[in-house]
Amino acid sequence: MDPRATIEAMLRPDLRGRTAYGAPQLAVPVALNTNENSYPVPAVVVEAMTRAVAEAAAGLNRYPDREFTALRTDLAAYLSRGGTPVDAAQVWAGNGSNEVLLHLLQAFGGPGRVAVGFTPAYSMHPIIATTTGTTWVDGMRGVAGDGAFDLDATSAVAQVREHRPDVVLLCSPNNPTGTALGLDVVEAVHDATTGLVVVDEAYAEFARPGTPSALTLLAGRPRLVVTRTMSKAFALAGGRLGYLAAAPALVDALRLVRMPYHLSTPTQAVARAALAHADLMLETVGVVKEQRDRIVDALTRMGLEPVPSDANFVLFGGLADSHATWQALLERGVLVRDVGIPHYLRVTAGTPEETTAFLDALAALVPTHAGAAS
Ligand code: PMP
Repeated sequence: MDPRATIEAMLRPDLRGRTAYGAPQLAVPVALNTNENSYPVPAVVVEAMTRAVAEAAAGLNRYPDREFTALRTDLAAYLSRGGTPVDAAQVWAGNGSNEVLLHLLQAFGGPGRVAVGFTPAYSMHPIIATTTGTTWVDGMRGVAGDGAFDLDATSAVAQVREHRPDVVLLCSPNNPTGTALGLDVVEAVHDATTGLVVVDEAYAEFARPGTPSALTLLAGRPRLVVTRTMSKAFALAGGRLGYLAAAPALVDALRLVRMPYHLSTPTQAVARAALAHADLMLETVGVVKEQRDRIVDALTRMGLEPVPSDANFVLFGGLADSHATWQALLERGVLVRDVGIPHYLRVTAGTPEETTAFLDALAALVPTHAGAAS
């Protein structure tokens, strides 16, 4: 028998025929497809990380601190800089915020339970939900007109009332569309359900001025969770460190599902070294935001339709055949993301040089590639 068929026959029925997460990892001159920070870790921080890992290395015969106490304290201090005090007991972390989301769905989703998100949103949300046996419901954002991809409180509440989810996943700023949600939407969704409300704020640090974080809503709301990551603004995607803030009782519940010692000693050491240099690590955020705004302006001038962005990427429409444009950009050494929305592509804001390479390549294509109304 074909080994593939053998495996398929053994596989959990709900996983058969599914496709794995697969953003292409290609060696191209200009990689703008996974919303990483294009800037390398500064030399001073590299040194601090190297020292921290070297100091910890002899102790690797022992398991890591299972409670990652020092790291939780550092993460709480970092979050508190935003103006809302966060205590270490409110913090949880994992190997990327994907693992944090997995813990949430393991603890609060599962067979017989329902999770709702508002599509298009982060493509891993439904994958993580179904991995845990949670039934996934694709809620909808507005899809046409001026407010394309917006989600307002009335629509979100109606969808939550209809599907009665155990877990609601909100994403703000939203990937792949880029726009942040109003806190009125978060509050209204919270009040419309008795379930868990997760606000995925992976891109929070890039938000335009005046965009408040859902951290400001945590007090008195034990069913609310805000997830963050060091992969984006912190330029630490390879370090794999994501985290959340929530009520201490909720954090306690996550201890039931995590694997013991899930954060390795080197992971904790590297993340702490980065947090000790937070200002330096975040120095590129301003440049990246400038490039994002430059992309929005330039694409508008090209006659394309960029979506307003609070993140380090821009979704843009107005392409006749988005996959053909994706391919043509790749042939010019620029890798962007085809997120599966007809007529749209998503590009990460990188260095000024990368942005120029992307804009030049796209400008050359626009005369033949711009087209269909979105
Ligand atoms: N949430 C959102 C909205 C994302 O876009 C991503 C990464 N692309 C993640 C979470 C997960 O990132 P990580 O696991 O690296 O923290």
